[in-house]
Amino acid sequence: MLSARGILNIYKLLYETKVDYIMEYKEEKKNCQNCKKDFIIEIDDFSFYEKMKVPSPTFCPHCRMIRRMLFGNLSSFYKKKCDSCGEMTIGLYHPNNQSKMYCNLCWWKDNWDGTEYGMDYDPTIPFFEQLIELRNKSIFVALESLYPSLVNTKYTNNASYQKDCYMTIYADYDEHCACTMLTFKNKDCLDCYRSRESELCYECVGIYKSYGCMWSEELDSCVNCLFCQSCYGCTNCIGCVNLRNKSYYIFNKKYSKEEYERLIKNYNLNTYDGQQKLKIQSEEFWIKMPKRSYHGNSLNINVTGEYVYESKNTKDSFLVSGAEDCRFSQYLSIKGAKDCYDYTGWGSESSLLYECYIVGEGAYNNKFSSECWPNAQNIEYSYYCVQGKDCFGCVNLKRKQYCILNKQYTKDEYFILKEKIITDMKLNPWINKFGHIYSYGEFLPPEISPYGYNETMAHEYDILTKSEAESLGYLWFEPVDNVYEITIRGESLPKKFKETPKNITNEIIKCSTCDKVYNISNIELELLVRFDQPVSHSCPRCRHIRRFNRTNKPELHNRNCMKCGIDINTPYSKNRPEIVYCEKCYQQEFV
Ligand SMILES: [Zn+2]
Ligand SMILES: [Zn+2]
Ligand SMILES: [Zn+2]
Ligand SMILES: [Zn+2]
Repeated sequence: MLSARGILNIYKLLYETKVDYIMEYKEEKKNCQNCKKDFIIEIDDFSFYEKMKVPSPTFCPHCRMIRRMLFGNLSSFYKKKCDSCGEMTIGLYHPNNQSKMYCNLCWWKDNWDGTEYGMDYDPTIPFFEQLIELRNKSIFVALESLYPSLVNTKYTNNASYQKDCYMTIYADYDEHCACTMLTFKNKDCLDCYRSRESELCYECVGIYKSYGCMWSEELDSCVNCLFCQSCYGCTNCIGCVNLRNKSYYIFNKKYSKEEYERLIKNYNLNTYDGQQKLKIQSEEFWIKMPKRSYHGNSLNINVTGEYVYESKNTKDSFLVSGAEDCRFSQYLSIKGAKDCYDYTGWGSESSLLYECYIVGEGAYNNKFSSECWPNAQNIEYSYYCVQGKDCFGCVNLKRKQYCILNKQYTKDEYFILKEKIITDMKLNPWINKFGHIYSYGEFLPPEISPYGYNETMAHEYDILTKSEAESLGYLWFEPVDNVYEITIRGESLPKKFKETPKNITNEIIKCSTCDKVYNISNIELELLVRFDQPVSHSCPRCRHIRRFNRTNKPELHNRNCMKCGIDINTPYSKNRPEIVYCEKCYQQEFV
């Protein structure tokens, strides 16, 4: 096998002789720089790359996704001192993390904009090395949010437009919600994952336009459904699966309103034991019923992937809503992504994006960038470029145009220098510590990410041990020891809400499943009263992991419909216990 240096020489030769500019496209098999597996670039993909003026990728789709996800720390929180005001604050940076950090208030102040760390471009040093130097000097924000849009919401991450919320993560336009992740426009929801436009829901995964539902999964337009899965338009159902427009069903069996109301009391659903018993019972029932080959809704046209909703011509995408002409994209939680490839987070009227992480809300024509919002335009190789336009290689820069390495240029100077850097990057690619060749066209290298591998979304989809991660060159930060005095243990909390001690919000609770401690916020308490549900015995993170583990992974497998036998491409691998039907067979039975 050729060494990285050998490949580099061939690369240079190709670039100098312009062999890579062949305009007649045909399907191309490539070998991933990272995992060394082959992957295919299809003919249609080339027209996107041409439109974006980028070379075709050298990493396979999965490795590209993981590389972007190295920039996503959603829920590893620590207490650390603000490097400006000195106050202790909750942030994403481990006490041993060398990155400089300001508390949210100091970071968003107008007394600095990031040009203070501006650097001249040095053509004798690889561009990426200069970008790493800038990243080390610049200052990160404690928690990632559109801070000016938060109302009475102190602790959120990856969030915007939150009102009266607590620990809503990857969340937009929510009100009075707590301990949720990947949400959009919910009200009074607690402990939900992937919920959109829903109200008064508790412990749900994958719900849309639903109301008063608890302990349920993949519901669309349901009301008061408990322990239900993959139902649409149902009201007052318990333990049901694959039902359409039904009321008063228990385990898919019809009851009269009176019988239903009498039976529901026997389940003791306001007690911990009643809840746990029905949870096991319903999961055992759900698994016996056929699953559609992928999760999506009837508003999709020509899509492939998993958890794809209201989308059109969108392929190989995961957890996307309202996307059009997109491919290899994930976590598009707000509709309006158009013409994007390799785009992780978050949509909202954004277009022409390639290899971006958390670049949304009016984003246009951005490449190889992370955390650039809102209305980021023509941004490349930047990280935390807030409200930026025409910036290249900037880190922690606010409201600027025509900047390179955080230094201000005139419009003409900017375009000339940008082209020179791109040419330098192509002529003299950089080899990073992972042995990967970084020319123009690669996403930001892992060296730019300030997080430990175990703190990022990458670790959720490609789990590594500490020694594996460190041997590959990633950072790793161990959880910090608890410094709080535990006042109550999770397993000894009351099993009914009624018996909850009055001062529960003052208690430091030891999680019943991990070593962490947690407390109950006022918002959680208010919602638990409304749901008449006991305080959870485990910490918010363990609760989230349990919901996350109920969600399929962004991988598709070829197998056959278990009814008609046709080939299907599905997130359910062959060794999964579910009965998997093709779209047509599923619709025939359940619509
Ligand atoms: Zn790969
Ligand atoms: Zn501060
Ligand atoms: Zn825990
Ligand atoms: Zn079939």
